[in-house]
Amino acid sequence: MPGSDPVEDVLCTARNEATSLVEELREELTAIAESTRANPDDEHDVEGSTVAFERARVTGLLRMAELALHQIDDALDRCRAKTYGRCEGCGARIAAERLAALPAATRCRACATAPGTHPGLHRR
Ligand SMILES: [Zn+2]
Repeated sequence: MPGSDPVEDVLCTARNEATSLVEELREELTAIAESTRANPDDEHDVEGSTVAFERARVTGLLRMAELALHQIDDALDRCRAKTYGRCEGCGARIAAERLAALPAATRCRACATAPGTHPGLHRR
């Protein structure tokens, strides 16, 4: 790792963490799928609904982890293109504290919390 840019280092570390989380969740999903295949009747009893719930839960977590990984990749691209830390919404500099907490943030706090601009991460 070059390590010339501290921001890039933070993003690389976050990327490694996100990658291992995605791998972990994929393995978990495979394990759930295999246990369902081993006991196909499970879908129809009480245990089965637990399996279905677990699969839905892990799938949801995996989607979020993949999205986070994607956002970190984007942030790394912006970092290399020297546009990192600029708000996509208003073009202002994103506060350093915000970037420290959310290295993949693409918007300043004001734009991120503005109604109608959120990418749907917390959709219910
Ligand atoms: Zn903004």
